[in-house]
Amino acid sequence: MSTRSGADRELVIRGAHVLDPSSGLDGVMDVRISGGRVAEVGEDLHGVRELDASGLHLFPGFVDVHAHWRTPGREEEEDLESGSAAAAAGGFTGVVMMPNTDPVLDRPALVSGLVRRAERESRVRAYVAAALHAGLAGSELTEMRLLKEAGALCVSDDGPGTQNADVLRSGMLYARSAGLAVLLHCEDRSLAKGVVHDGVAAALAGVPATPASAEDAATATALVLAAETGARVHITHVSTALSAALVGFFKGRAGVTADTTPHHLTLTDDLVRTLEGLYRVNPPLRPEGDRREVIEALRDGTLDFVATDHAPHAAQRKELPLQEAAPGFLGHETAFAALYTELVLGESLPLSRLVEAMSCAPGRWVGGLGSLAVGAPADIALADLEEEWTVERESLSSRSHNSPYLGRRMRGRIVGTIVGGELVHDRMGAKLGVRT
Ligand SMILES: [Zn+2]
Repeated sequence: MSTRSGADRELVIRGAHVLDPSSGLDGVMDVRISGGRVAEVGEDLHGVRELDASGLHLFPGFVDVHAHWRTPGREEEEDLESGSAAAAAGGFTGVVMMPNTDPVLDRPALVSGLVRRAERESRVRAYVAAALHAGLAGSELTEMRLLKEAGALCVSDDGPGTQNADVLRSGMLYARSAGLAVLLHCEDRSLAKGVVHDGVAAALAGVPATPASAEDAATATALVLAAETGARVHITHVSTALSAALVGFFKGRAGVTADTTPHHLTLTDDLVRTLEGLYRVNPPLRPEGDRREVIEALRDGTLDFVATDHAPHAAQRKELPLQEAAPGFLGHETAFAALYTELVLGESLPLSRLVEAMSCAPGRWVGGLGSLAVGAPADIALADLEEEWTVERESLSSRSHNSPYLGRRMRGRIVGTIVGGELVHDRMGAKLGVRT
């Protein structure tokens, strides 16, 4: 995050409906910020700088543990400036960047270099996931202790995964001794030969498909090894009914947490019948039955939180037939609105559970974020729950445009985002904390 001139100044946000399940706050209140931290939450607070937020909802800033900002290596698709602008536009104040960059983040100098660059160039708090294996190749373990010293928050091989159970087990044991969590994209590549979910939609579309077992078998393996090794394992983007149930079985038997994505919660594989490359993603969009089970697993806490897997791609990698397109969706800017519209308004998910799943739980996982407790970092998302808007290419802050929600009407929009007491996204015209 950039150094900001106003970081030490006091700010009072007045009249918003404050909702923070982690602190038990739920009602119209004022929030005083001082020294970049929450100083007081109460009634009738005043200060030299005041921001009128009446009519808005105020949440702890959202935290996204799975993002691809394409830096280093593919800055034409995203970089620290555009990625963090997209995050801020979506109410995210903390983001974890995945290591599948070019070069791969598998050496301490690369990790510390990106950490330092993010401090200068990112509008939000940006954390680095380092590689679990050199080159994400799934054979030679990285120097995890040194990667941690260099500033890595966790380790992951993300997309390529670790295809050998014995190698993954060693990685978990080493990560545990180094004090790092392991974030796992669970996919058995011997089963994953297609580009979409193997179901009715794939059959009608006539495209090569991958069975759900590609995710489920790898998830089961990871959970068994997590229970045995005692490693802190996080399963990312859970998308099937069976994988969600497996996570539920292992809760309490292993140090396991899990997330799912906005797109797996709101979209289904029916979209692949368009044959448009835009709708290719990994893990693939699933049938309605899986979507329903994943929603219920998020509702009851089996799935701890939401992560977007924000994955920008240039048009020439997405505007292709399904089989040729790169997998991945943008996520930051539409996450809250998509989930508020489809789950809170559409499925009666309590708004407090959505805030818990976007702020409090991922904030705890990262450490010290996602709370408006006195003394916590003043990281805040301000939302207008009444605003209706349509997702358009021109309105996106990302350098890429591969949103599966383009043209969709949504309800609820982030209008202001505050990091460390300073406004880093402003659709209110409040003009506070303008960077100098
Ligand atoms: Zn992934």
